[in-house]
Amino acid sequence: MAFPGFRSFQAVSTCVPHIPNVARRTIHTFREVQSLRTFRKELRSGQRTVGFVPTMGALHEGHISLMRQAAAENTDVFVSIYVNPTQFGVHEDLDSYPKTWQEDMDKLQALNKELQGDTSSGRITAVFAPITKVMYPTLPPSSEITGSGSFVTITPLGSLLEGASRPVFFRGVATVCMKLFNIVMPERVYFGQKDIQQTVVIKRMVKDFHLDTEVKIGPTEREADGLAMSSRNVYLGARRREVGVVLSRALRAAEKKYLQGKRLRADILWPANEVSSSKMMEQDDLPPSKRARVEVDYISLADPDTMEEIEVVDTSKGAILSGAIKLLPLEEPQEGEDCGLGGGAVPVRLIDNIILKPIN
Ligand code: AMP
Repeated sequence: MAFPGFRSFQAVSTCVPHIPNVARRTIHTFREVQSLRTFRKELRSGQRTVGFVPTMGALHEGHISLMRQAAAENTDVFVSIYVNPTQFGVHEDLDSYPKTWQEDMDKLQALNKELQGDTSSGRITAVFAPITKVMYPTLPPSSEITGSGSFVTITPLGSLLEGASRPVFFRGVATVCMKLFNIVMPERVYFGQKDIQQTVVIKRMVKDFHLDTEVKIGPTEREADGLAMSSRNVYLGARRREVGVVLSRALRAAEKKYLQGKRLRADILWPANEVSSSKMMEQDDLPPSKRARVEVDYISLADPDTMEEIEVVDTSKGAILSGAIKLLPLEEPQEGEDCGLGGGAVPVRLIDNIILKPIN
């Protein structure tokens, strides 16, 4: 069987590495490890610092905000664009993940143009876009839980919450990030709060494996109505998009209780559960031609270091409120309706979170 991750990008020229001129900074695209390493080593001897933003492409303002932060704190920003097969389960559709190479490159060029106006800021210097044979040189790695391969596992952290629903997800994320960090050797790495458990897993990996990089977290970028930006939102379409906003509303309702002084799990979480279950019931009562059915996977109140569920918030540490919902496929898409990419047939999992800050 052909391994789905083994595919290459079209129309990308691999550059000849050389030290970029500070004034005229082009974006260098690398698809091989060795050429990127050579380029990186030369930057190091020139006292430059690299901030690294790993992505799976289909770039949006959430990714761009991390790159802006990286450019503010480093002379050079490296971005990876790689849809990592090992974080997709066997039943998750890796091949349908949106791929928008040319639009992504256009966005990076536009960002560099914007950054040019600020002389104190770094630039996007390099994009690493490997194929899977480069990232996994020994074997096509398995997405089976018991499959073979060289993996990094962070437990029990990676088995909770998202990991409970997607058992190979954090193994895949930690494994690909370990590889990318070893290749890029960045001074700093940038991750979005949007994927909060991922940030906790990566921080733990950096600590436990003594990796020589600093983990920086950027805030979640949202649409005007509160929906967290995600590459997967293109699948929603108007009907499911409207219902999907329930997750951020539910979390806000719980946050409000914390800000009003509540500390017990039940007191904080009940409004979130109420907001989400009333949306579920409202949709269930509509006819199939009008509704977008939604399932709640979890609403969690967890310790910020371990992601274990807590009964009471320790105000010296704060807590993480997070949730995941699934928008089911549209049962009866209507003629001319905006159903999103995939015609409303692709189930869409949305995640979101709010950090309940420590109170002194
Ligand atoms: P992805 O391409 O989805 O793997 O995401 C790449 C990086 O962008 C990860 O660190 C994500 O947490 C981050 N990211 C994705 N969406 C957002 C968002 N709405 N706001 C901030 N960061 C985000």
